[in-house]
Amino acid sequence: MSTLKELADLIFPDIKLGVSDLEKKYPPRTLPSGAEVSRFAPSPTGFLHTGSLFASLVGRKFSEQTKGVYFFRLEDTDQKREIEGSGLEQINLLNKFGIVFDEGYLGTSEKGEYGPYRQSQRAEIYKIVIKELIKKGRAYPDFCTKEELDALRQVQEANKVVPGYYGEYAKYRNLKIDDAIAFIKEGKPYVIRFKSLGDVNKHIKVVDEIRGELLLSQNNQDIVILKSDGLPTYHFAHLVDDHFMRTTLVIRGEEWIASLPIHVELFETMNWQRPKYAHLPVIMIVDEETHNRRKLSKRKDNVAAVSYFLKQGYPIEGIIKYLYTIANSNFEEWLTNNPKGDISTFKLSFEKFSLDGALFDLPKLNNISKEVLALYSKEKFTDLALKYASECDPKLKELIEKDRNKFEQIINIEREIEKPRKDYERFGDVLPKILFFYNDEYDSMLKNADLPFNEFIPKKIIGEFLLDAVENMDLSKDESVWFESIKKIGLNHGFADDKKVYKENPDKYNGWYSDCISLIRIALTTTTVSPKLFDVIKILGKEEIKRRFSLVIKKYDC
Ligand code: GLU
Repeated sequence: MSTLKELADLIFPDIKLGVSDLEKKYPPRTLPSGAEVSRFAPSPTGFLHTGSLFASLVGRKFSEQTKGVYFFRLEDTDQKREIEGSGLEQINLLNKFGIVFDEGYLGTSEKGEYGPYRQSQRAEIYKIVIKELIKKGRAYPDFCTKEELDALRQVQEANKVVPGYYGEYAKYRNLKIDDAIAFIKEGKPYVIRFKSLGDVNKHIKVVDEIRGELLLSQNNQDIVILKSDGLPTYHFAHLVDDHFMRTTLVIRGEEWIASLPIHVELFETMNWQRPKYAHLPVIMIVDEETHNRRKLSKRKDNVAAVSYFLKQGYPIEGIIKYLYTIANSNFEEWLTNNPKGDISTFKLSFEKFSLDGALFDLPKLNNISKEVLALYSKEKFTDLALKYASECDPKLKELIEKDRNKFEQIINIEREIEKPRKDYERFGDVLPKILFFYNDEYDSMLKNADLPFNEFIPKKIIGEFLLDAVENMDLSKDESVWFESIKKIGLNHGFADDKKVYKENPDKYNGWYSDCISLIRIALTTTTVSPKLFDVIKILGKEEIKRRFSLVIKKYDC
């Protein structure tokens, strides 16, 4: 009769090292007490999801706060679903958010003593552990074909029992060692399964850093740990990698809570201390059609992809601050008290984690971003706008590069004052709002514009007023002096210099001074909304104003 050791040697003839060798190769880290070792471990199967950015902001922050380590591990064991280059793309995007990794796979190279950090490069390590489990009788080859597994599922469905490969349904669990050896020698394909000793009628308690103590049924599934392609499944790779990379804190999505019993049993079987777990709430959205809450969908929601926000020109700082409001219930208050505060001084805590607040709220993101952009100096705003424009907005890039000074003047209107004006939610808003400042752009806007002048004011009056205004308005001092001069000019063209006076006798006037301001604004910008008109006038200068007014007069025959 053959032994388990013979079976293990037959399956892994080239594996000579044991688990104790790995323990030596990857010793516990020497870090100050309380330091957390955490990681970001995406699968390279697509774009960077907003939920992943959220998880990695939280992970990076906890490592930083505790003077620990944050590393990157690429979970590339599902080669069928892999999208070439998406790992590197995710790293690059995270870097833009200031998330840098102390170690790990960094896209083109690796850094750190606990690698390789790509699971596809770690096959030998997994096999060493599995070989030991086979020898102990806690893992075995399973020769079930796809047809057999389908048939098993049907039986379970018909009998209304929990589906899966476990207990009496685990066909090859108790196969004689000699038979297993014979099958392997015959070349029968197989996977390796873990032999569970759990009982679903019994419970385990696991403390989650966010949710507190969880009471869960034990695992009894003989899960696959090594697939036929020689690579592990997520559960087994989590066990091996987080043990030998000496992770102390696993921060991952709440969808993994259901698998915790498997992970607990795996760690117990190896007699390894398991890491702490923090299962983050999944970010939800209210479905536009059904009005029900659902997970962010890669297919339906553009806000599911981090790249969307960058293409829209949301400032990185705004996105981070917004995601912090999802993380900690006390962050918004902190933000109100520290509008200019450095986010790195905010202490993220698991106790303050909001569990039901993970609802994606675009208006809130917009507000936060507006606030962030309003507080930037003109130089910082311009630097970031140019960075955005270089990637996403060639026209804006051209305008900034042509005359940076002018751009700074434009976006500095009502900025760098105690209560700055909140004009922009994102850099994507900038171009349409400032285009009229540029003479060529103004000309083509005017060509296509239907100027929204008040139709009750005779055209002739508009023309006369504009000509008088450009010649005689007083730009020599401040806004109030300019304003008074407009009032006076308005009087000469039948516009009351007082609202009350106008309202009492509307038929006597062409309007009142607010109409005068509106005429100037429309003539200069082609629209009824603009930044502060006095500042617009000063940036454009008298000559350009004259030019614009005469174009308007010509176009409108006034
Ligand atoms: N690759 C897993 C995922 O993308 C990682 C989960 C974890 O952090 O353990 O969901």
